[in-house]
Amino acid sequence: MTTVNTKNGATASRPTVLVGGGVLGLCVAWELARCGHRVVVLERDRVGSGASRGNAGEICSPIVGPLPAPGIVSTALKNMYRKDSALYVHPMAALTMGTFLLQMARNATAERFRAGVRALAQLGADTYDRFAAMSDSGVDIEVTRREYLYLFPSRDRAERKRAFLREHYPVRDDLGELLDGPELLTLERCLGERARAGFVLSGQAQVDPSTFVDALADALRANGVVIHEGARVTRIEPSSHEVRVESSVDTFAAGHVVVAAGAGSAVLTANLGLDLPVRAGKGYSFSIAPAQPLTRVLKLEEAHVGAVPLGDGVRIAGTMEFDAREDSFNPNRIREVVNAAAPYFTGVDWTRRTAQWMGARPMTPDGLPFIGAAPGHSRVYLATGHNMLGVMMAPSTAHLLARLIGGHEVPALRPFDPARALGRRARPVNRTVPGTSRRRDE
Ligand SMILES: Cc1cc2nc3c(=O)[nH]c(=O)nc-3n(C[C@H](O)[C@H](O)[C@H](O)COP(=O)(O)OP(=O)(O)OC[C@H]3O[C@@H](n4cnc5c(N)ncnc54)[C@H](O)[C@@H]3O)c2cc1C
Repeated sequence: MTTVNTKNGATASRPTVLVGGGVLGLCVAWELARCGHRVVVLERDRVGSGASRGNAGEICSPIVGPLPAPGIVSTALKNMYRKDSALYVHPMAALTMGTFLLQMARNATAERFRAGVRALAQLGADTYDRFAAMSDSGVDIEVTRREYLYLFPSRDRAERKRAFLREHYPVRDDLGELLDGPELLTLERCLGERARAGFVLSGQAQVDPSTFVDALADALRANGVVIHEGARVTRIEPSSHEVRVESSVDTFAAGHVVVAAGAGSAVLTANLGLDLPVRAGKGYSFSIAPAQPLTRVLKLEEAHVGAVPLGDGVRIAGTMEFDAREDSFNPNRIREVVNAAAPYFTGVDWTRRTAQWMGARPMTPDGLPFIGAAPGHSRVYLATGHNMLGVMMAPSTAHLLARLIGGHEVPALRPFDPARALGRRARPVNRTVPGTSRRRDE
């Protein structure tokens, strides 16, 4: 057992172990190291091998809300078995996912949605400051300010989305006028015939998620944090004076443990008596090279697809797939994203797409993450379930969680208290550990 020392039983001498080397685990490790913790990160594969590399890297806090919004979930659930639906539930997964999807539908009320928006706005209130603080303290990242261009096939749908944004978010100063197709074309020359109406939202940003993960890992190592890759955690066993963490490389005696294992978190918390409702919602991305460059982030709202300028090309990201085989790569989902996105572009050879990727988002039925102490276990904390918002919410989550672990009251974290998952006992675990991303270049 690697015990970075347990002989005298002094908690202070034990490391804090982070389970999961995704964007959440690495950001939490960074904040804890800065607070003086000796930190060890255990990652079953390579850092960023879950959902944290191939995503869209949009940073649009505080205009974020939980996925279960009134109307959206019921429409999605009605179409969920259709293979061209943006939310696709594989028939084999329907049995295991039934309760989860039902809970999601129940959470899609106007009242809960508003409460979720308020909570996430508070969590992300200082997002840009937190990214800046990381950069100032040695993480080599660049946050690029970008306008977002929302696109729709019709004027009334664009107007409805504009009204929705005005109703729920503080965007009045950033929201542009409604534009028609020819006006949109003057903004982005690569737009296609389905981009018939839209509007600009200014004041948003974007980060290259892969660069972010690498910069975090580099900064951590440079600051003495040990990152074990290929270290799969198999059991977390808290006692009164330490937490024993069993992994494929060694057993560690930790003072505290933070579970940030993304879609793999529920498996790890099962033996803590917590049936954590975190499930893998698989998303896909790939890159294209339009003949005309893209300068803004495109939000193809009806297609449920985002398009972001990245490097020399454009990353297209989207779809939500609940599948019994949680780490499998489904080429049909890529095809559906292509079909949904292609009419919004011109001058793109869609057969020449590169960097095809799948990542399992850690989804929760109320659309909110779990951040805080695991119920009944004062030495085990959770930082998981960030749904579709993990990149933008990671720095502020990490900052607030480090304060909580340091013994401070953190009211902004109350809505995310893992205690809300209580009341349901852990089930026997016999599913494969999910959360692996797949990259497929053709
Ligand atoms: C297509 C797509 C687009 C997205 N776009 C955006 C966006 O624009 N903006 C945004 O903010 N978010 C976006 N997201 C969501 C974002 O990617 C996730 O919320 C975020 O990456 C979750 O980070 P995480 O660290 O919690 O999980 P992960 O990145 O999955 O990391 C968890 C890590 O834990 C490891 N792990 C799991 N089990 C174990 C174990 N037993 N032992 C050791 N290690 C383990 C995994 O290997 C993995 O590396 C998008 C997601 C997808 C799929």
